[in-house]
Amino acid sequence: MIWGPRGGSAVGVLAVAVLGTAGLGGSLFGLAGANVSQDRVVLVGGTLIDGRGGPPIENATIVMEEGRISSIAANLTEPFPEDVDVRSIAGKWIVPGLIDAHVHLATNPAAPEWRRRTEAQLEAMVRGGVTSVRDMAGDARAFPDLVDALARNEIMGPDVYYSALFAGPDFFDDPRVKQASIGVEPGDAHWARALTMESAVDEAVRQAAATGATGLKVYAAVSAPLLARISAEAHRRGMKVWSHATIFPAKPSEAVDAGVDVLSHAAYLVWEGSPRTDDFTRRALGDFEGIPVDHPDMSALLDQMARLGTLLDATLLLMDRLVDRDDAGPRRLEWSADVVRAANQRGVRIVAGTDLATGSGRAPPVHGEMAILVERAGLSPMEALVAATRNAAAAIGIESRVGTIEVGKEADVLILGRDPLADIRNTLAIEQVFKRGVALIEP
Ligand SMILES: [Zn+2]
Repeated sequence: MIWGPRGGSAVGVLAVAVLGTAGLGGSLFGLAGANVSQDRVVLVGGTLIDGRGGPPIENATIVMEEGRISSIAANLTEPFPEDVDVRSIAGKWIVPGLIDAHVHLATNPAAPEWRRRTEAQLEAMVRGGVTSVRDMAGDARAFPDLVDALARNEIMGPDVYYSALFAGPDFFDDPRVKQASIGVEPGDAHWARALTMESAVDEAVRQAAATGATGLKVYAAVSAPLLARISAEAHRRGMKVWSHATIFPAKPSEAVDAGVDVLSHAAYLVWEGSPRTDDFTRRALGDFEGIPVDHPDMSALLDQMARLGTLLDATLLLMDRLVDRDDAGPRRLEWSADVVRAANQRGVRIVAGTDLATGSGRAPPVHGEMAILVERAGLSPMEALVAATRNAAAAIGIESRVGTIEVGKEADVLILGRDPLADIRNTLAIEQVFKRGVALIEP
């Protein structure tokens, strides 16, 4: 039974039983026509890739109702009620909305035209299939208004989740931090905070949470004991902890031990094999020649991440873009791809984050991140899709609501004209984008 009364959770439960059953007959639509609303959109006949990594479901029927997925069925033979918005998508593919787990939208909101350019970027993102993003530090004062405008549909874009940045005092000479906290002494902002072992970490986390941030980004110049305190306090408040893979002096394994949820930038994992240093300015210049990815220290680290469920925000496309920035560039890219391959093989969950901007009118870079995960790091197209959907949702902590196409989840759904499992670059063949069940672009 798929056409139950609106809004009843029993609809979904029953429909799950329908899923995967071929040759359905009888009276599935016992309540067909009853209380049927025009706000139900039904996608019929496509191949469903639900973001969980299992085999695709052919000839799927997906009902979106009041912003959520209310039913999923396969090989449905029963006729549809007349007053439902049925859209045949035979020959197409259905995937969850994509999530870029590493963007920077508000590094300098005081810059001229910031709001207009940011709105253009957000629109390009959602038109390009990105329905949620994780912002990895900027001026948190800029976000509540942006998030509010998105929620009111005044502007078009993905859901934006943002962070407050914590680091040691030495980091606060960085010009990006100064730009992102104009009017406040560097290191004193609630969203860009210098901490030492003497700091009141509980107070700092409370103030960071009050900015509306979903997580704390820990950047540099933080010791392992301080990180452990930050992490414990953040989790006590229900915030995520998002750390650079090495934060100098704390090593990657110490960040994992401290319970951080996500490590960013696969290249920085190399510092696990090097002598401890607090020179964070060298973070992109690790010993890529001397520490092979199969070094015992690296294998132990990856196994520890897999065991504790620490996600890896690889940012491989960024390493590709930076390949000419310094002499280490080519080797850094190669090493990063190899360590992501090893991490994936050892059971570490890979997350698609780009650390790159979306140009107005251009495809969002998360498509390129998925492609490089497949082409250079050996992920399957399915694994790359999961990295940009379920795993990215897990990184933000929103996996109970989005990231997969399952009954009860928000209806963030893309219709693709070509098979992304045949070629991951087919995620660019977007024909329709639904955000919470509302069509944002139509064929
Ligand atoms: Zn970043």
